[in-house]
Amino acid sequence: MTVLVKPKPIEGHKVRAFQMLIDGKWVDSAEGRTIERVAPGHGVTVSRYQAGTKADAEKAIAAARRAFDEGAWPRMTASERSLVLLRAADMIAERADELAYLDAIESGKPISQAKGELGGAADIWRYAAALARDLHGESYNTLGDGTLGVVLREAIGVVSIITPWNFPFLIVSQKLPFALAAGCTTVVKPSELTSASTLLLGEILEAAGVPSGVVNIITGTGPEVGAPMTTHPDVDMVSFTGSTGVGRLTMANAAQTLKKVSLELGGKNPQIVFPDANLDEFIDAAVFGAYFNAGECCNAGSRLILHRDIADEVTRRIAALSAKVKVGDPLDPETQVGAIITPQHLEKIAGYVSAASRDGAAVAHGGTALDLGMGQFMAPTILSSVRPDMAVAREEVFGPVLSVLTFETTEEAIRIANAIDYGLSAGVWSRDFDTCLTIGRRVRAGTIWMNTFMDGASELPFGGYRQSGLGRELGRHAVEDYTETKTLNMHMGARTGWWMPR
Ligand code: NAD
Repeated sequence: MTVLVKPKPIEGHKVRAFQMLIDGKWVDSAEGRTIERVAPGHGVTVSRYQAGTKADAEKAIAAARRAFDEGAWPRMTASERSLVLLRAADMIAERADELAYLDAIESGKPISQAKGELGGAADIWRYAAALARDLHGESYNTLGDGTLGVVLREAIGVVSIITPWNFPFLIVSQKLPFALAAGCTTVVKPSELTSASTLLLGEILEAAGVPSGVVNIITGTGPEVGAPMTTHPDVDMVSFTGSTGVGRLTMANAAQTLKKVSLELGGKNPQIVFPDANLDEFIDAAVFGAYFNAGECCNAGSRLILHRDIADEVTRRIAALSAKVKVGDPLDPETQVGAIITPQHLEKIAGYVSAASRDGAAVAHGGTALDLGMGQFMAPTILSSVRPDMAVAREEVFGPVLSVLTFETTEEAIRIANAIDYGLSAGVWSRDFDTCLTIGRRVRAGTIWMNTFMDGASELPFGGYRQSGLGRELGRHAVEDYTETKTLNMHMGARTGWWMPR
């Protein structure tokens, strides 16, 4: 399939040109090259970024290092840092429409959804501000008369933050405010496909009072600017969200200097449905879970594992509801599913569907690209008769494609759910407490939803088992992730001598 991208200008939009933020200054890249971002929903250029280089990454890392070793940020009180984060949260909320618009045109996601993500992001900045003031270590007054032990939590240092294109503002907000709360300094690299809202965040943080060099934002491709951020000896930690392949490479790169690594990677998330479930609720959640963000979502519920007794009825009803999902212009407030990120990615999604059909799966709805006279779009697609060994059932398609598998016993459902490389999230649907809890305890994934799907809160940790990642974001320990512990072992009075006579 060759995807023809149809251009449709966005009324009133002028191409926006961005610079990079290094050491408190907005600068061009060392080589002066730029990257053009074409809006996936409209097929026209909407933004122009600096194509950063290794030299730019090194300047940004040097600025972050200086700001950490000599600057005010790590030495401020937590209360002062917390106030800066709260001011930033207010400004994010004030500029939410502008930020959401940039995320929608660059990623192709629906504008209503982008606005929801901005609301969630502002909440995360507030949550991090609260945690900043509760970061503390431990003390041990139980080690005998001569000893007092104090365990300090110290900011880990310079953190490289690398983010993907599917939730541009939300994902940087799952990392940066917690690193800042701990007192770290940072170099941030957004995806080269969706850099605008992160660059605007730089303006917001300057205005909120973050000192120069504490947050540096550089743009460009992964190999050019991302890779040096993972290898440079002056970086202490890498916090990465993206594909499992690049996550693996990031870990190997960081291993050369033994940096701490936090990874949020891919998923192939099952929803297991028993015959006693509230099927009306589930069918709504299945369509939402599979097509939200056009399925370009690490948490997409892309594998339905349905009990054999209900599989035909449920598949029919999901197919009927899929036909009603509103696919279209990301800027239309009624749109539920927007555009696919690039023409190449659309081809990859369609390729998974063709391969599954060749291998014996049946297309219950959709299955092809949609010609809407603009940009590039994929029809919401449901495939039945999928076997667990097919690529579409095991690999991350990252498109609006739902695979239906079936089971007879609870053990079989658990086996199918766990028989892949990923373990990010899962859902279970049943009115029976024992059934939900058995699945909740036995399926190996970082989040298990029971009778709901893809809910979340800043308070709840998020992350993956196995090849879905390493470490957790959000939750009450999120700031601790960006710290080192240091033991102060203090002695009072005469020591018991080793050889010196007492
Ligand atoms: P990607 O891995 O291609 O890119 C992610 C980031 O890494 C981008 O900024 C990219 O420029 C950079 N990068 C690429 N090569 C690099 C290199 N050699 N060194 C350093 N950085 C490099 O991922 P993507 O296509 O942008 O995003 C989609 C993927 O992200 C999916 O697999 C999805 O599941 C995953 N994701 C996971 C979560 C989660 O929380 N688990 C959330 C969102 C997305």
